[in-house]
Amino acid sequence: MIKLKSPREIALMRDAGRVVARALDQVRRMAVPGVSTSEMDEAVAAIFKDHDALPLFKGYPNSTKGKPAFPAFICASVNDAVVHGIPTRRPLQEGDIVSVDTGCKINGWCGDAAVTLAIGEVRPEIQKLLDVTSQTLELSIRAMARCTLWSEVAALMEKYVKSQGMYVIEKFVGHGIGQDMHEDPQVPNFVSKALRKNDIRLEPGVVLAIEPMVALGTKNVDTLNDHWTVVTKDRRASAHFEHTVAMTPQGPRVLTFLED
Ligand code: MG
Repeated sequence: MIKLKSPREIALMRDAGRVVARALDQVRRMAVPGVSTSEMDEAVAAIFKDHDALPLFKGYPNSTKGKPAFPAFICASVNDAVVHGIPTRRPLQEGDIVSVDTGCKINGWCGDAAVTLAIGEVRPEIQKLLDVTSQTLELSIRAMARCTLWSEVAALMEKYVKSQGMYVIEKFVGHGIGQDMHEDPQVPNFVSKALRKNDIRLEPGVVLAIEPMVALGTKNVDTLNDHWTVVTKDRRASAHFEHTVAMTPQGPRVLTFLED
């Protein structure tokens, strides 16, 4: 069941979204050769602490029973890693890409966003992957202004990625968000069977974390033996962009952009 949010609740979610945006902006400014994802993690932890924001990722339970909880404030997924990468002390190198995903809760309300960053100069096909993935997120938000159902938006996202010769990851999807980071509904970046049966009506009060994951060579993924990091099966690059977006009577409103 989708919990609709009031304008007041959406304003509270914007407070959390703003801090998430600040955290990702800081990470973006750190993204140069030689930096480690652990340093990015520490910077985000400090920003959350400054704002009395509750980190949502650290301690997040593993979906496999008995496996370790997530150990960090950000997911940092490098190159062939799609999502859920664990920060490390390894310095990033020129030509790498890193997807950084993070979330926090302030006064009981959540924000969640992700961005993929190029480290120095990247190969043209990698730059194109970043452009296509961020454009997929942007086109989805624009489409929410005129579409009635999420399946119409998902179809556009899928079509665009395919038209660029790339692949939408299907194993992971976006989600409703509010007082919990993960609420109903699931928000696929393609027209899934579940969506066909049970579509999402884009009405005011619906708040979704929209997060296309796109890969160069395959939609298939593996999970590494750290029980978190998801990589592409062909080990080619993958990118991930995410915003928390609220439907309002005036149309979609991004809650995780930097400043009003
Ligand atoms: Mg998310």
